[in-house]
Amino acid sequence: MKIYNSLTKQIEDFTPIHEGAVSLYSCGPTVYNNLHIGNLSAFIYADLLRRTLSLDGYDVKHVMNITDVDDKTIRDSKKAYPEIEPKEALKLLTDKYSNVFMHDLKKTGNDLSSIEFVSAVASIPEMITLTQKLLDNNIAYVADDGVYFSVSAYVAQGNTYGRLQQVDIEHSKARVANDEYDKDSASDFALWKKEESGEPSWDATFESNDKSYSIPGRPGWHIECSAMSEKLLGVPLDIHTGGIDLKFPHHENEIAQSCGAGHDEFSHYFVHNNHMLVDGRKMSKSLGNFYTLRDIEDRGFDPQAFRLAVLEGHYQSESNFSWEILEAASNRLHKWQAAADLSWQREAAPASQETLENIKAALFDNLNTPKALANLDGYFDEISSKDLAPGDDVVAFLNKALGLNICGEDITDEQKNILKKREKARADKDWGTSDTLRDELARYNLHVRDSSTGQLWERIR
Ligand SMILES: [Zn+2]
Repeated sequence: MKIYNSLTKQIEDFTPIHEGAVSLYSCGPTVYNNLHIGNLSAFIYADLLRRTLSLDGYDVKHVMNITDVDDKTIRDSKKAYPEIEPKEALKLLTDKYSNVFMHDLKKTGNDLSSIEFVSAVASIPEMITLTQKLLDNNIAYVADDGVYFSVSAYVAQGNTYGRLQQVDIEHSKARVANDEYDKDSASDFALWKKEESGEPSWDATFESNDKSYSIPGRPGWHIECSAMSEKLLGVPLDIHTGGIDLKFPHHENEIAQSCGAGHDEFSHYFVHNNHMLVDGRKMSKSLGNFYTLRDIEDRGFDPQAFRLAVLEGHYQSESNFSWEILEAASNRLHKWQAAADLSWQREAAPASQETLENIKAALFDNLNTPKALANLDGYFDEISSKDLAPGDDVVAFLNKALGLNICGEDITDEQKNILKKREKARADKDWGTSDTLRDELARYNLHVRDSSTGQLWERIR
């Protein structure tokens, strides 16, 4: 398959390090609030990439981290639970939003069983070890408020800083303690932050220039992913994914930390998805367009319709979300579901190998989902014009390749009985009974209509 690699800035043939296997690392959520739908789209694209690699025959190991300790989680846990011990407060807050995250993932068709999740808090020893390695390699130094990565020392040792995007190294800022900072100039960033009062902290001792430093504290955000990806997958990785906003400084720093620790390369491919706008504007709380999955469900939409709306865009293009776009995706999904609903009453379309091959080819071509979905539309239009239901192979394929489940549960025996009674009433030209039975079915959210081939039912959505 072909995929765009942010490191080389071109579409490349994908070649794994080990034949037939892929190590895939996705930067996971920072669990301090409900994820907005733009973040959610990044995980839908990561899930799509994993499915496509599997479809291409690879054995994929997919790891995703949960950032459960960083500036934001600490800040908000202090606010939410001021009376509680800091580590306990952090756990309360991050457990709560990890759970919400897992539900959001599941509802939007992401296969949780294919992802191995790793918590930052559970990987602190590995972060301390990695920080020590950088000190040993003279790429890190101890300061008053923690341990920092030295960009200039890294560059002086012959490494390139700024591989994902142009960064101003000449005018680098001295040092930055915050996890998130200025997007265009290099700064020495924190690997380990010395504890501040009222913050959760872990014991750590570092050696530097023959001196020993006991620095209770907590990791910087960037070191977390370098340590966790190496712990679970080994370095170099085949593919690393994330939103485009993570390119700098986060992913650049991940590369620098891992290469600074002695690896020739951190990840062979970086795959970034573009931003999601809402009504053509950047999402923000002040504009009131900061939506979560809850907003989508509150308006009565199936989270799967949101997934489809995401897949309607190409991951590299800036996408736009609006209620009209979601409505259209919802209608498209319902059309496919309605066709699948008819499968027990109608003949199934014969094998659709060509359709499936065309969809696969589109996905293998740098995840061209708009083209894959257009192929599906063509298929559904054709079968409905012939009064046929989709083949089981297509329904299963949709589920496996795109994570869209269009097959609802079958109707109950009781409901089937009502349909049979109604069939008899119609044969007897007993229109009154026929209408009563139709109303009875409507109470089960089943809509029945009469065609040349007999009664057909579908779910009212
Ligand atoms: Zn990360």
